[in-house]
Parts: sequence; C-alpha cells; structure tokens
Amino acid sequence: MICIICPLGCELEAEMEKEGKEIISIKGFKCPKGKEYATREITDPRRVLMAVVKVKGGHLPVVSVKTAKPIPKHRLFDAVRVISKIEIKAPIKTGDVIVNNLLGTGIPVIATNNIRKAPMRILLPRNTREGKHEKCSERCGIIRIIRLSAY
Ligand code: SF4
Repeated sequence: MICIICPLGCELEAEMEKEGKEIISIKGFKCPKGKEYATREITDPRRVLMAVVKVKGGHLPVVSVKTAKPIPKHRLFDAVRVISKIEIKAPIKTGDVIVNNLLGTGIPVIATNNIRKAPMRILLPRNTREGKHEKCSERCGIIRIIRLSAY
C-alpha cells in the first residue's frame, strides 16, 4: 500500500501471519507515521466522508458537509444513503451540526459552507397582466410573496 500521510508517498509492505489476522512486520516507511498508517489501514480503515445535503429555501440548493472525524470505511455507503435523504432549511453556517451521531458512530456531520436564505420577492399573480385575479373576475389586487429558492 502507498502511505498517503505526506507527499512522499512511501510504498509500504505488511507481512501478515497465515490467517491474516495479525501483523508480523511493516516495511517501507520513512517515518513512524507511515507505520501507524499501515497498522490502521489493516486493522481499522477509516475515511472522512465529504458529501452534500439538500437545502430548502437557500441561495444554493445544497450545502457541502463532512464527517467531523474519519468513520469506518465499511460504513461509507450506509452513511451516504443516510445523508442523501436529509433536507435542511436555510440559513446554515459553517460548522453547524447536520447529523448528531452518524450511524451510531458518535461522529457528527458538519456543514462546511454558509448558505443564506434565498431573497424574498413579491410577484403578481400570473394573469395580472390581463387585469384579473385567478379566483375572482375583478382587479382584487392580491399579490403572492414567494421565496426565490435556488431550485
Ligand atoms: S511513511 Fe512518513 S515519510 Fe513516508 S509517506 Fe508516510 S508520512 Fe510520508
């Protein structure tokens, strides 16, 4: 395996016992971090998950998020499934907790971007140009207020 801790990218080699459960030796690292990395990759591989979450009423339709710490690699797809079902309301600030305890790992998912509320704009009913409101036949002057969402 290649060590990804620094740009040097040392090629690491691990020798395992026959059953593949215990590490006998690790070679190829140029610093102790490489040995730690290889041990972790074999015993408990983890990754920081980066994704996007849908936003309602924001100036953008999604907010970027990431797990506050690396989560077990084998849970990444489950985590993506959970995150893809979430929709949150704007405004959102960087560092806001989006999920408290992702898949029971105790690790939160936090926002990595700011999302403002979409600006409010007053629109006239569609047929106002013809001088009529949709429900009455007079010029009732009713207006609609909508939030301009990004989607
Ligand atoms: S073993 Fe040390 S020097 Fe080599 S890539 Fe990993 S962190 Fe960098």
